[in-house]
Amino acid sequence: TNTNLESIREIIEKNDVELLHLQFVDIEGLLKNVTVTSEQLEDAAAGQMMFDGSSIHGFSTINQSDLYLQPDLNTFAVLPWTVESDCPQARFICFITYPDGTPFEGDPRFALKRTADYAAKLGYAISVGPELEFFLFETDNNGEPIMTTQDQGGYFETSPRDDGEKVRIKIYQTLRRMGFTIEASHHEVATGQHEINFKFQDALSSADAATTYKWVVKTVAQSFGYHASFMPKPFGGANGSGMHTNISLFDTEAESNAFYGTTDDKELSTTAYQFIAGLLNNVGAFTAVTNPLVNSYKRLVPGYEAPCYIAWSASNRSALIRIPATRGGGTRVEIRCPDPSANPYLAFAMIAAAGLDGIENGLTAPEEVTDDIFSMDDASINAKNIDHLPTSLEKAVDAFEANGLGEDILGSHIFNEYLKLKREEWDSFRTTVHDWEISQYQRKF
Ligand code: GLU
Ligand code: MG
Ligand code: MG
Repeated sequence: TNTNLESIREIIEKNDVELLHLQFVDIEGLLKNVTVTSEQLEDAAAGQMMFDGSSIHGFSTINQSDLYLQPDLNTFAVLPWTVESDCPQARFICFITYPDGTPFEGDPRFALKRTADYAAKLGYAISVGPELEFFLFETDNNGEPIMTTQDQGGYFETSPRDDGEKVRIKIYQTLRRMGFTIEASHHEVATGQHEINFKFQDALSSADAATTYKWVVKTVAQSFGYHASFMPKPFGGANGSGMHTNISLFDTEAESNAFYGTTDDKELSTTAYQFIAGLLNNVGAFTAVTNPLVNSYKRLVPGYEAPCYIAWSASNRSALIRIPATRGGGTRVEIRCPDPSANPYLAFAMIAAAGLDGIENGLTAPEEVTDDIFSMDDASINAKNIDHLPTSLEKAVDAFEANGLGEDILGSHIFNEYLKLKREEWDSFRTTVHDWEISQYQRKF
């Protein structure tokens, strides 16, 4: 609306903002931008900025390459690290449209919005709160990241042993100035591993926040001479980085949390159980999206607080789905397989759709698994009918292709482009000879 634009203009003038970055993500969720001057605010807001879609990974073909950026005014933020500089800057995250203004079906943001709109038709607003972990690496004299982590700290380490605290404080401060509500910031279990949590929001805002978070974490880390990485499993034998995704539905008619139930012994509603059942039922088909890399599947192994079996539990951290203790308005499910290399727009769309599928089909959740699954033997795992999450990108992509949910939710354009990308990635990995093979076979055979 115009008033919104007017207040943005005021902030631009107050901060002497000179440049505006119009941001969007490609199919992998990687942030892109084109920069215009603040004098162009009104033109940009009218969706008049064109770009060549054929040069963006997973976007359009050469013959229909003109795409337009439609800034979402709600995402306006002044970039705190530029305010004191001689060139203050701000950004918008944009929707992508065709020249006639219709949404471009290759836009991941649009895929999530469509899912949220679909949930709204069913009477639900989706809330999402992701928890993104990352590593801080040292850099060499050329500024290239090396595999040495930036500190020797462990879980909840304090400074000065946790030298990353100064970086986290700067990240915290930067995010807050960009409008984030930060809930907690701490050193994680692995050396050099960190996590900063922000408050849950509607699904689209949350995916925007996850994207912004990754960008800010990397930008701030670089200003300290470190490299921040959201690679899921940089070190075998140590915890990897997850993106636990907390999700809940708000019943817009009853005006209450749809997962909270007063009569059940776990205080969960039938809707919550159906949602859990939908997640369990479809998870094999969406891990290709929530765990998108060859490396993602090195994280999903026993013993590192990451899930590998398809089960749920009210408290057990070895399960794929955990129900955090909060009830009432805060009732939610935490799905623990996603990792922060995922495109958050596509990941949240798939997770929400998987759960909604359980509600629409009235699925029944299996029994809760209260034992530590990591210490159960194969016989008891089989006796309880607990399935394994896909153990490789190849298996995940096969399941993604075979199940209809991906194409329904992401649309044929993204679905096909994503499949192509992931098949290529797997083939490249499969046809490469790795160091492990040399070390195991060269001498022996
Ligand atoms: N780093 C763990 C993972 O890979 C999660 C640790 C936690 O519970 O926060 O998912
Ligand atoms: Mg954590
Ligand atoms: Mg968690």
